[in-house]
Amino acid sequence: MTNTIPSPDLLARFIAIVGARNAVTDLPAQAPYLVESRGLYKGTTPVVLKPGSVSEVSAILKLATETGTAIVPQGGNTGHVAGQIPRPDAGDIVLSLERLNKIRAVDPVGNVIVADAGCILADIQTAAEEHGRLFPLSLGSEGSCRIGGNLSTNAGGTAVLAYGNMRQLCLGLEVVLPTGEIWDGLRRLKKDNTGYDLRDLFIGAEGTLGVITGAVLKLYPQPAGHQVAFAGLNSVEDALVLFDRASSLCGPALTGFELMPRLGVEFTTRHIPGVRDPMDTLHAWYVLVDISTTDTAERAEQMMQDLLARGIEDGVVENAIIANSEAQRKSLWHMRESMSPAQKPEGGSIKHDVSVPVSSIPAFMAEADAAVLAAIQGARICSFGHMGDGNIHYNISQPIGADKETFIGRWREMNAIVHGIVLKYNGSISAEHGIGQLKRDELADIRPPIEIDLMQRIKHAFDPAGIMNPDKVLKSGR
Ligand SMILES: Cc1cc2nc3c(=O)[nH]c(=O)nc-3n(C[C@H](O)[C@H](O)[C@H](O)COP(=O)(O)OP(=O)(O)OC[C@H]3O[C@@H](n4cnc5c(N)ncnc54)[C@H](O)[C@@H]3O)c2cc1C
Repeated sequence: MTNTIPSPDLLARFIAIVGARNAVTDLPAQAPYLVESRGLYKGTTPVVLKPGSVSEVSAILKLATETGTAIVPQGGNTGHVAGQIPRPDAGDIVLSLERLNKIRAVDPVGNVIVADAGCILADIQTAAEEHGRLFPLSLGSEGSCRIGGNLSTNAGGTAVLAYGNMRQLCLGLEVVLPTGEIWDGLRRLKKDNTGYDLRDLFIGAEGTLGVITGAVLKLYPQPAGHQVAFAGLNSVEDALVLFDRASSLCGPALTGFELMPRLGVEFTTRHIPGVRDPMDTLHAWYVLVDISTTDTAERAEQMMQDLLARGIEDGVVENAIIANSEAQRKSLWHMRESMSPAQKPEGGSIKHDVSVPVSSIPAFMAEADAAVLAAIQGARICSFGHMGDGNIHYNISQPIGADKETFIGRWREMNAIVHGIVLKYNGSISAEHGIGQLKRDELADIRPPIEIDLMQRIKHAFDPAGIMNPDKVLKSGR
């Protein structure tokens, strides 16, 4: 079904639902809602609506279904695949969740927090901490991304190794369906085998099936011990050996295992204020190891020392430092999280958020590097990421002195090369950022037709009028 561009009368009906002060029609004020952080996608909208209650969301979606008006849900607008950006000149209405930002309840005994979908992730982390608990989702964008966006992209982040991604961190959801009906699935149960799991359909759906308005999220004990180390290595193969040792030695205490290349360390020290190389020796590769224990602080300390001693003994660790204060731990993580922004001043950067089975990472990277360098001489490959999850941000910076526009113009070609190798290793072309607009056409090419057909049927069952975030994830129309 095609969507209609709302007439002035219809727009007035939408605006009346939230009130004029919560409807943004002024172009400069709309600007922050219309472009994503990388500037690849820009859209337009007749209005940004900011509902202040679940019933207002319900009224908006009901009217949208009745009139065939497209709705684009938006949280913090930090998504990397432009799922939150309206299409240009299509009449898409942006529905911002920013006013739905109340923490509804914290139950430290039951280890849950119930929150509106518009809560900022960092506020959830703080609320958990105030109750002596941990909400473990942690991303570079945590100061601005919102829980509904985290759920809708099934966000991963730095602690997936120990705690899983958003799907594993959520027990229940409240969702407004495209018809305006409200599904109250705010259950707090770890065990609930009662038919199809509707919650899991909405998580990772990127706003194409309904609007998430509330969630029950899992909390964990605050760690008693926390250790972060930075190790210099000679190769990705050595990093894999160290990861294997770390998994055996630490078990669930291994919270993060992040891989970084020398080039990434150079970019961050060059461009990110306050970041400095923590070592006075040079290494081809680095890993950041994060260990947290809930019983004693000493156990984390002992584990980290044992792991690094073993790595040195095995000849895979060339040099290592252990952070000796919270400030140092934060600064090591800051360097890792700055890898992506530090690429910007280096010119154009073609990104790939991919995953392969962990044991295939060295072979995948060697093959991808060779293919990329054969295609673009002098390309600067800055591949880093959550090695423990098999998730590599395989980013390519333009050759020094190259023309940025020409380089970025080769985005699709480089995607085809890198993703082809990912698929050869039975990997995924989107490990944590989703599909959105950026990877929509590729999704249709790489998933078997039966899977695309099942997705289309699910979409149609939930959203027969085709109003929810059209042309994201799947192409509109059947
Ligand atoms: C510096 C930086 C670091 C990042 N690091 C990571 C990382 O480590 N791991 C990771 O997974 N991601 C990461 N991201 C990507 C991004 O932060 C996540 O995808 C985040 O979960 C998106 O949340 P958001 O509120 O900004 O969502 P938005 O960008 O606003 O929206 C994302 C998608 O969700 C939909 N949506 C939003 N809210 C709702 C809702 N309430 N109901 C239904 N649909 C909704 C939108 O339509 C869109 O399709 C990073 C981004 C940045 C800028």
